[in-house]
Amino acid sequence: MTGRYILIECDNDTEVSLLKMHVKKSAENRIIGEFIRPDTFCSCGNWTSENGQPAVTQTRIQKLGWRICTQCMKPIPVMDFLVNQIKPQDIEKPFTEKIQLPGKAPSELGFYCVGISLPSMHASAFKKQS
Ligand SMILES: [Zn+2]
Repeated sequence: MTGRYILIECDNDTEVSLLKMHVKKSAENRIIGEFIRPDTFCSCGNWTSENGQPAVTQTRIQKLGWRICTQCMKPIPVMDFLVNQIKPQDIEKPFTEKIQLPGKAPSELGFYCVGISLPSMHASAFKKQS
């Protein structure tokens, strides 16, 4: 049976805890990812150099995946990747499938979401077209 993933955005930690408790009660669903998005952005405006390459005024916070401005230390608006906060070994009852390739020892594989691509978009992109 194929699996599906949904992505739900929560604005507060209480809602996250309630959703996690609800999912953990389920015998067939599991939480495989949790991502932290920023709630504010840098407004310095100098994150890209003249040749389009990342400027030295930005750096990445490896644990979160955020790219931040090194002047004000806030996330830059063009950041686009969030790192999964749940380590593979901390996923309860992960989906795995046994495979047997010709001439190879049996193996078992699962899926792990390293991170998600979540680029910022202008708010007009979320408006319904009439
Ligand atoms: Zn800044």
